Amino acid sequence: MDKKRILIVEDEEAIARFLELELNYEGYDVIKAFDGRDGLQKALSEDIDLIILDIMLPKLNGMEVCRRIRKESLIPIIMLTAKDDTLDKVMGLDLGADDYMTKPFAIEELLARIRATLRKHTEIKSEHISNSISLGKLEMDLDKRIVKYLDTEVELTKKEFDLLEYLLNNKNIVVSRESILQKVWGYDFYGDTNIVDVYIRYLRSKLDDFYKEKIIHTVRGVGYIIKDEN
Ligand code: CA
Repeated sequence: MDKKRILIVEDEEAIARFLELELNYEGYDVIKAFDGRDGLQKALSEDIDLIILDIMLPKLNGMEVCRRIRKESLIPIIMLTAKDDTLDKVMGLDLGADDYMTKPFAIEELLARIRATLRKHTEIKSEHISNSISLGKLEMDLDKRIVKYLDTEVELTKKEFDLLEYLLNNKNIVVSRESILQKVWGYDFYGDTNIVDVYIRYLRSKLDDFYKEKIIHTVRGVGYIIKDEN
């Protein structure tokens, strides 16, 4: 699992700092913004998994930040409301916030809500995104790591699978041996690019040759390409 990144939009620096320490301790990466405008800008430009958004903020209040974020993104938002302001809570949820916490709050409760909100969001995402790539008669299920040609499973090794996935993700683009080596074998692999040719040959014997269809094309002196013929 990669580290989740949380944006804290809170003008009270002591609270922001406290939250940052707690979240870091729990294994999250943290970005902070101290006013609404900066918060909005970071929410829309940075790669973030969840936002903790205070309502009373300088420059742009939390409600407005929430409303503007929702026009562009479904990123989870937990709002921090001052006191026990029911109106704020209702408005926040109406504007699309996922949850809210009333200040002062127990950090354990906030952490539990963060976990729950992230979990819910991941479930929603995985329901909507089918994690597969297909091209003609070829289909790759990236979750189950299964490759099928005309509904028949093709047995691939891990590296063959990764190589095919990389080529398919870059279909209609010529990929060089060097970039394949870097992306499929990892940056720290100081090997000969010949290994790429060897694995291309394995893939071809299982796909192109076996099914008598030219799937992987060689671009001489450069690398390889899978073309979408349709
Ligand atoms: Ca505030």
